Amino acid sequence: MSESTGQDVNVRTTAAQRATGTNTDTLLQTDGLVKQFGGFTATDAVDFSVEAGEIRCLIGPNGAGKSTLMKLVTGQHAATAGSIYFNGFDVTDDAPNERIDRGLSMKFQVPSVFEDLTVRENLRLPNQRLADGDERRRRVDEALAAADLADVEDTRAGDLSHGRQQQLEIGMAASLDPDLLLLDEPVAGLSVDERAAIADRIRTLNEERDVAFVVIEHDTEFVAEIADRVTVLHQGDIFREGPIEEIEDDPEVQRIYLGTDGDAEGDAR
Ligand code: ADP
Ligand code: MG
Repeated sequence: MSESTGQDVNVRTTAAQRATGTNTDTLLQTDGLVKQFGGFTATDAVDFSVEAGEIRCLIGPNGAGKSTLMKLVTGQHAATAGSIYFNGFDVTDDAPNERIDRGLSMKFQVPSVFEDLTVRENLRLPNQRLADGDERRRRVDEALAAADLADVEDTRAGDLSHGRQQQLEIGMAASLDPDLLLLDEPVAGLSVDERAAIADRIRTLNEERDVAFVVIEHDTEFVAEIADRVTVLHQGDIFREGPIEEIEDDPEVQRIYLGTDGDAEGDAR
């Protein structure tokens, strides 16, 4: 990288202004975001931005730093350096709960439904934050219907199929009325039909409730079905960004997935 030129400074200033100005479509902007675990840099000065109402997919080889980036955005991890702007605010030092109140919600890679509670009880939890009495009941009924879980509302969540657990988790996250919903591998291990149902749910939330998404997913067919744009993460930083057709055909992207990056035997240009 070159020294910080006038242009770099401009870009950086604009990033912060774009993310915090009044007439902006930028929903999320990270600025030079860094996360180190001991001496290891998992997130390496990432400038990542998401527009209001878009569906973005985040891909990249195992260990690229996808989950870490998401956890920095939600506040599960504290940033080592850099800033995070969300919905017009600098949320870098905000607690996870404060970020939720600003419109951020997430479904983690590891399922986190309350297995011993019923489906209805699980959905009641996020709705407790926002409503009570009849209004809460109405919201829970609506969430059950939207997640196609009304027929199993009294079932223990731990007894649901994996696919329906994922639907429940997305339903819980969506109950918080987020502007941005982060989903970490929501269709891993699911059947073709279950994947289609999740894709459908994502599109519906996007179209009807204007929820923007960042979805971590490897399967390019699924990505092509839902995403406007794709961001490729590699070794903790953004490697490529663009429409899935371009990304899929990019020989450099194929190379990092094959794990031959930096290999002297590699015959890439
Ligand atoms: P991805 O989700 O892209 O597979 P992760 O974000 O989970 O990758 O991990 C990125 C890198 O950071 C990996 O090398 C991983 O081992 C490391 N890492 C992630 N979380 C921790 C942690 N809590 N402590 C130490 N290293 C971690
Ligand atoms: Mg991960």
